[in-house]
Amino acid sequence: MNVILLGAPGSGKGTQSIILNKKFGFLQLSTGEMIRQNIEDKTELGLMVQTLVNSGEFVNDDTILSMISNRILMKDCKNGFVLDGFPRNVNQAKKFDKILKENNKKINIVIELKVIKKILFERIQNRAIEANEAREDDKGEVLENRIKIYEEQTEPLIPYYKDLGLHYEVNGMKNIDEIALDIEKIIKIKFKTNKEII
Ligand code: AMP
Repeated sequence: MNVILLGAPGSGKGTQSIILNKKFGFLQLSTGEMIRQNIEDKTELGLMVQTLVNSGEFVNDDTILSMISNRILMKDCKNGFVLDGFPRNVNQAKKFDKILKENNKKINIVIELKVIKKILFERIQNRAIEANEAREDDKGEVLENRIKIYEEQTEPLIPYYKDLGLHYEVNGMKNIDEIALDIEKIIKIKFKTNKEII
């Protein structure tokens, strides 16, 4: 089963995708982590996007699409994957759907983690303290910019996936285990009704 976790920065996508990986074996694919790894390794791609990413802006769609499309075709994705941080806008989603179709794959479910803005800020501040070393893009104005971009560019994915009958909403303000259980319930219901292979 292939899952998309949708949510603003700080909504818990990373945490929940790790749990989904442990529970169901879906491979966690975070485009943000892939990008940060490229920046750390100073690859051509990393050097090209570093300034953009540190200011909270998006990497261009085609770059992200080719990165993720190659990744989902690898063997370790055959039992399913959970996308964390992709797609980020409707253009990415549409082009990705086309690529999936060409490869006889599809998205089975989209789970939105809903969290109010005040809590997003609190969580990211805590993440910075706990990590001891703040992510460049987790700071003040850049974080505000990332949340604004989420509202403007990523939220339109909600009606997009609603129209496709794939969207489910989860209250992302409960504690981690409760959220994980809510997600698990949705996945199991979907699995039963569609008899899809997990
Ligand atoms: P994240 O860890 O998901 O918050 O991503 C960190 C940063 O990587 C984002 O602020 C963007 O600059 C870049 N990024 C990650 N995923 C995407 C995507 N799907 N489209 C464009 N940029 C992305």
